[in-house]
Amino acid sequence: MPRFLILMYHMIREPADRREARYACPPDRFRRHLEALAHWGFEPVSLDRIARHLDENAPLPEKAVAVTLDDGFADNYHNAFPILQALAIPATIFLATGHLGKTNAWMRDWPQHPMLSWDEIREMHRHGIDFGGHTVTHCHLDQVPASQARTEIRDCKQVIEDRLGHPCHHFAYPYGRFDDTAVEIVRESGYRSACTTRPGFNHRERDPFLLHRIEVQGTDTAGSLKRKLTFGTNEGGLGVPLKYYANRLKARLGV
Ligand SMILES: [Zn+2]
Repeated sequence: MPRFLILMYHMIREPADRREARYACPPDRFRRHLEALAHWGFEPVSLDRIARHLDENAPLPEKAVAVTLDDGFADNYHNAFPILQALAIPATIFLATGHLGKTNAWMRDWPQHPMLSWDEIREMHRHGIDFGGHTVTHCHLDQVPASQARTEIRDCKQVIEDRLGHPCHHFAYPYGRFDDTAVEIVRESGYRSACTTRPGFNHRERDPFLLHRIEVQGTDTAGSLKRKLTFGTNEGGLGVPLKYYANRLKARLGV
């Protein structure tokens, strides 16, 4: 069965401090990651194409990979957008719409950075970048009442569609947190897919509202990214291949 991967980035910038190194990928490194994908035979595809594969069994390339960026940091416009355009790679940016034009205030005690403006979002949209929902306030969907989860999930979709005049098809759960109610609300709200932060490969049988993603960290070299993609894991260490084959051997031996 063909399998496909979805990559998750956040900020594309030099990290402001050591904690941020996980979430902030320097632009030249981001470019090297994306250039390496083609080199390794991966074919970047949009989430729309993945949704059509899951919903309608539309064909997907053998080594399909989708690029996503969470939250809507302004550096996505300044740093990621030119690289994505130059390499003609499709991408989806998930927006926490209540923070746009302000800063990442939901990350208390972390360095604050500007979030995208609607002008920047519109310009990227005109050039093919896709925008998905990521709630309004970047809340924990498994910790708020169902009525609030519904507002968060629907309102971010509505504002994106109003501002862009284009359907918003995809959603990502903030912090990777969700429960059955949240998944049901996303499903009923007219989205076609939703991304979690569960690592691993996806395939035709995957619930479109529980898609797995590989977290690419700012510290990932091309080598560690390649190990993550090869083995469908968030661990990019040199021990990963060994563990992978040991587990496969154990599975085959039934131990
Ligand atoms: Zn987020």
